[in-house]
Amino acid sequence: MIILENATLIDVLAGEPRPGTHVLIEGDTIREVSARPIASAAAQRLDLRGRTLLPGLIDAHVHVVATTANLAQNALLPDALIAHRAAGIMREMLHRGFTTVRDLGGATLGLRLAWEEGLFEGPRLVLCGKALSQTGGHSDFRGRHDTRGTGFFEARLGMLGRIVDGEAEVRRACREEIKAGADYIKVMANGGVASPVDPIAFLGFSEGELRAAVEEARMAQTYVAAHLYTDEAISRAVRCGVLSLEHCNLITEETARVAAAAGCIACPTLVTYEALKEEGAALGLGPESVAKIDTVRVAGLHSLEVMSRAGLTMAFGTDLLGPMHRHQSEEFVIRRRVLPAMEVIRSATLYAAKLLRMEGRIGVVAEGAFADLVVVEGDPLQDMALLTHQGAHMPLIMQGGRAVKNALR
Ligand SMILES: [Zn+2]
Repeated sequence: MIILENATLIDVLAGEPRPGTHVLIEGDTIREVSARPIASAAAQRLDLRGRTLLPGLIDAHVHVVATTANLAQNALLPDALIAHRAAGIMREMLHRGFTTVRDLGGATLGLRLAWEEGLFEGPRLVLCGKALSQTGGHSDFRGRHDTRGTGFFEARLGMLGRIVDGEAEVRRACREEIKAGADYIKVMANGGVASPVDPIAFLGFSEGELRAAVEEARMAQTYVAAHLYTDEAISRAVRCGVLSLEHCNLITEETARVAAAAGCIACPTLVTYEALKEEGAALGLGPESVAKIDTVRVAGLHSLEVMSRAGLTMAFGTDLLGPMHRHQSEEFVIRRRVLPAMEVIRSATLYAAKLLRMEGRIGVVAEGAFADLVVVEGDPLQDMALLTHQGAHMPLIMQGGRAVKNALR
């Protein structure tokens, strides 16, 4: 048993800081959160002396197998190399305070099993297996003149997606991913930046195909997440029953209202466009992709205001690739430019937990939740940059009751 004493808890449920909070941890679980000292002779005590205590952070849009900026090249790397690099990427995420991540294409059950065996340290991993894309869609990394078959895509760990066309193939792919351990289904329902032959405005999949994916997900008691930018693509996906709306850079207020009423949650990923703009070309992103960045980048901050006004819940996401992963926590600072600090913190805790359907277990410091906790030196509500710098201002990071970092003194 461990007792964290004298914490200033950022209470994401109440929306305010609570100084003088004490937390009792037993095994991997929080047993008690109290405004008074907790009596226990046996427990080990850590006095936080008023430092800030947050629930472990959640990044709801990552790609842990994206080890290079150029995803076509990533797909050609050997599986063993990808697996070891993914472990390294996950370890670095954990040390930035992210105790849970949702992977939106590429991660496999094998990675989670290796994590569960303790072969490497990293965030809890929620996964969809390979993202589904139509031919020529956002997971089709074959260039214009590459006429190879698409079976190649399914066999490689470094490939984020798989190519399916027609409702029957969509259904088979959903069933295969769920059988292989997917927690939910991801579809590419719009053009994208990192792929070579799909302009942003292209719609991915017919409505019939989208509805087939949604039905398959529902049959498996889960949901569909869709990659989306344009308002047309978003409104169509919402109409078809998609619940997790990734990116949403070009959404209108009207569509955001409809999405909110339908129970959708958006997952913007603004930092990746800033990183791609700065570093993408030098890191090997193709010229077709570089040309598309600004189409979505410049609309980013405005989209946050639009969704906020419309009452559409936003979870925290980053979507970074390869060496750009180090920018992960800068998403906090970008969002703080237009959103209240508590809302930014909630996006990476309460709201992300809801999106991942793990409410009450993660994203909250409360009885019965996993003891996934981050201690911050200073107040991130006043200065969001305290969450950046690779965890430098986080003297304690705890996951499942175990200190993965303890620099308290
Ligand atoms: Zn993504």
